[in-house]
Amino acid sequence: MVAGAGIPVYDVPFVTVGGGIGSFVTVDYLRIYGVPTSHIRILSNIDHPWQTYQFLTRVSQIPIPERIRSDSSSRPDNLWGWPSYALEEAWKDKNLGHLWNVLTEPLLNDYWTPRAGTVFQNLDREAKRIRYWDMLVKGQVRMVRRRVGGGYFTILTPPEGAATTKRVAFRSRFVHIAVGYPGLRFLPDLQEFREKMGDYQHVVNAYEPHEHVYEFLKTRPGTVVVRGGGIVASRVLQRLFDDRRKFNLQTQIVHIFRTFVTGSHGPHIWMRRKGGDGWAYQGFNYPKSVWGGQLKAEMRRLDGAARAQKYKDMGGTNTPKRRHWQAQMREGRNGSFYHPFQGTVDRVERGQDGRLVSYVRSKDGTLRQPVSDYIIDCTGLEADIAEHRVLADLLQNSGAYRNPLNRLEVERHFEVKGTASGDGALYASGTATLGGYFPGVDTFLGLQVAAQEIADDLARRGFCKKLGPVRSTAQWFKWAFNSQV
Ligand SMILES: Cc1cc2nc3c(=O)[nH]c(=O)nc-3n(C[C@H](O)[C@H](O)[C@H](O)COP(=O)(O)OP(=O)(O)OC[C@H]3O[C@@H](n4cnc5c(N)ncnc54)[C@H](O)[C@@H]3O)c2cc1C
Repeated sequence: MVAGAGIPVYDVPFVTVGGGIGSFVTVDYLRIYGVPTSHIRILSNIDHPWQTYQFLTRVSQIPIPERIRSDSSSRPDNLWGWPSYALEEAWKDKNLGHLWNVLTEPLLNDYWTPRAGTVFQNLDREAKRIRYWDMLVKGQVRMVRRRVGGGYFTILTPPEGAATTKRVAFRSRFVHIAVGYPGLRFLPDLQEFREKMGDYQHVVNAYEPHEHVYEFLKTRPGTVVVRGGGIVASRVLQRLFDDRRKFNLQTQIVHIFRTFVTGSHGPHIWMRRKGGDGWAYQGFNYPKSVWGGQLKAEMRRLDGAARAQKYKDMGGTNTPKRRHWQAQMREGRNGSFYHPFQGTVDRVERGQDGRLVSYVRSKDGTLRQPVSDYIIDCTGLEADIAEHRVLADLLQNSGAYRNPLNRLEVERHFEVKGTASGDGALYASGTATLGGYFPGVDTFLGLQVAAQEIADDLARRGFCKKLGPVRSTAQWFKWAFNSQV
């Protein structure tokens, strides 16, 4: 059928779809395990692996000089995690303060986290070292299908003018999928307002470019409604507070929490999280033992409803409690320019003066109608996986099915369950697989944990050699001296 449709076929043993951080770390592992560039193709619509991440962090108020959320040893460019980012920044800045911070965190200091720019620079260095761009094929992947003779066909539409045919097919024994977030998810009342009024300027999502909001507030006093209680809401608030101070602005901030956390909370005494003033506080998006401690071990044994329950117990929106930002919040409350409260928004309408009126109902039945110039929705990036065409096709045609959290069900070694094809295997990592045996999937370190499981599984299947301690040490030296793998 593929030949009959006039689609040219390229043979390559391993294909990864996405080309973001998940694809990058998987390919990094494989190159370090010894797989040559000729055996790997990265099918992607972006030019460099950190492009989407950089876009999302920038618009959600983490520009290059600011610090991201994950810790010093979560290094997607370095599978050994050593030297850590803190050591590197201490060396480059000639500042031992970074090391003191790591030593005393989180008791005397907040968790130390790297600058976004440090992460990008190092990814660039590692990408060059493993010859990332020799393996990159630009285009939009349409589908991945099982092949009658085993393995898979991956169909890609090349960029306009880049090829003589509209589609090309990659015939491979192995496929890895890391396509990131399927799409933005808007709160229903905000989506309705945007569609009904055709107004995409005044009601914005924090994950879309919305610099015009901050620019407007510099020109005259205004009110902003912020919705959501996670890290993005805290970053947006920090930006509003920073601008207020820096430019001497009069901005008023109304903050609506759907769930207003008033203190420590959790399912039982051994599993509690700090909270207060509306927020749930946690350094990282899950408890740390998810990446390498008892929660990681426990989760690997759970299936079905028990797994879903465990996710519920440790899940929930949260944000790190950072000292600087806490001080700003206190100032905002005392100075009466920051107004947080609990409520569910029924609808948003345009008032007679053209401003936005939110109709908010609190748990105790109180009705409020805050009026604002802008609304920034900081609640979510996660649409249903079926909104992504490739994932929807996998669910429909390739035997893949959903896990207890409604995402793709994968094995402990990240093979997508139900999709085996002859001696081939299809793997997935990243947010599409959240709800599996390993909860930290949508993080740098989690993507590396997945990449290692995948590389070890590929070694078991004879695709590459396993990485033992001697080769690993030799490879670390190559990494340290920036010599090609
Ligand atoms: C704002 C923000 C901050 C974060 N901060 C941290 C942090 O501090 N620490 C941490 O560990 N994690 C963090 N994460 C989580 C996670 O590590 C990153 O989102 C990471 O980029 C996920 O990698 P990925 O490969 O799954 O997705 P991405 O990096 O988004 O890459 C997927 C790529 O696939 C491409 N693609 C999709 N469909 C197709 C198709 N059909 N054809 C071709 N290409 C396609 C997309 O264009 C995209 O570029 C953060 C996430 C966000 C959103």
